[in-house]
Amino acid sequence: MKTVPFTKEEIEEAAKTYPTPFYVYDEAGIRKNAQAVKEAFSWNPGFREYFAVKATPNPFLINILREYGCGTDCSSMTELMLSNAMDIPGEEIMFSSNDTPAEDFAYAAKIGATINLDDFTHISFLEETLGYIPKTISFRYNPGGFYSLSNGIMDNPGDSKYGLTKEQLMRGYKILKKKGVERFGLHAFLVSNTTGNDYYPTLAGTLFELAVEIKQETGVELSFINLSGGVGIPYKPEDHPADIKVVGEGVRKVYEKILVPAGLDNVAIYTEMGRFMMGPYGYLVTKAIHEKHIYKEYIGVDACAVNLMRPAMYGAYHHITVLGKEKKRKDHEYDIVGSLCENNDKFAVDRMLPKIDMGDYLAIHDAGAHGFAMGYNYNGKLKCAELLMKEDHSFEMIRRAETPKDYFATFDGFDIYKKLTKE
Ligand SMILES: *Cc1c(COP(=O)(O)O)cnc(C)c1O
Repeated sequence: MKTVPFTKEEIEEAAKTYPTPFYVYDEAGIRKNAQAVKEAFSWNPGFREYFAVKATPNPFLINILREYGCGTDCSSMTELMLSNAMDIPGEEIMFSSNDTPAEDFAYAAKIGATINLDDFTHISFLEETLGYIPKTISFRYNPGGFYSLSNGIMDNPGDSKYGLTKEQLMRGYKILKKKGVERFGLHAFLVSNTTGNDYYPTLAGTLFELAVEIKQETGVELSFINLSGGVGIPYKPEDHPADIKVVGEGVRKVYEKILVPAGLDNVAIYTEMGRFMMGPYGYLVTKAIHEKHIYKEYIGVDACAVNLMRPAMYGAYHHITVLGKEKKRKDHEYDIVGSLCENNDKFAVDRMLPKIDMGDYLAIHDAGAHGFAMGYNYNGKLKCAELLMKEDHSFEMIRRAETPKDYFATFDGFDIYKKLTKE
């Protein structure tokens, strides 16, 4: 059963200060999980989780992860800027981007972030941009074809835009070695939102065997292998969470089987998890404001797809708890909808829930990663606030809601907000 870490009364109290909709992040949950990740890989002295900033780009939340040794993984200039402003040292910043603009590479190099190249041609692009090649470089690998795990989950790297082929990798390492690179890395992200404990150990096996081949063929001994993101979370009540301790042990076994005998026993393991670090610990809290009875039963809430677009975009399931009615029978079938002029603006379709009354608060689960971050402003909708529920259950606002002034701020030469407020 999926539960929420707060009560209806706590949310009602918070809503007096911060109008709905808002995000709530559960600090206790974030900390417990970050500690478990740290322990699961503690067998590897060089281990570091580089939190994928794009999942939840909030410095207050990232600062909590910093206490557990996490760095950041950035996909863009602004994410690099955020990491730099947080005084994160360059060695603790990964830059895993693709189709990268020259100025992003320049900024990453300036702050000393580790650059993870997505393509063979980026070697010369980087060198032309910077006038040199940094001493540490990583490559992103794409094995092509299909990639399957023992539980049947599969993805199609052959159809994905990311990474270098194996042949390009081998040539790339040789070139970088000639150019004086001293620390080499290997990265791959092959399957997203995997359930079960199988993905990282399977991927590690693939990358560790490749590391041995790289050593044999090019003489390059990798310093780090980056398993990237992709560890999933249980969105549905019947899904099972990954046991990160079992995952870490699984990686250790293949490390000892493949890398250690090949003399590669100093390789640091890196991860770039986003979803697993934050997903389950963020909730979108919204209020029921309309009920509509036509050919189906609709509940209209004050949040919409701009606050959380995964259901609209992927048809993703997000569990919903009607606060204060946790123990009531789920004997009503509803579509839970937002106000966008888009019929896919539905948080849930044909969902069995307890009877919802106007003014009820709904908590939409597992919105802590790729939730707020994917927000947009369609229909002139504004982004909502983010709140941190601390371990003592007090609430702190860690990002204010957007205002119309923010929304109108980029029309240089036509100050809409000033005009309206003068009248
Ligand atoms: C999105 C992304 C991640 C994080 O993925 P999760 O599924 O959230 O763990 C990590 N690395 C790269 C390069 C990504 O693009």
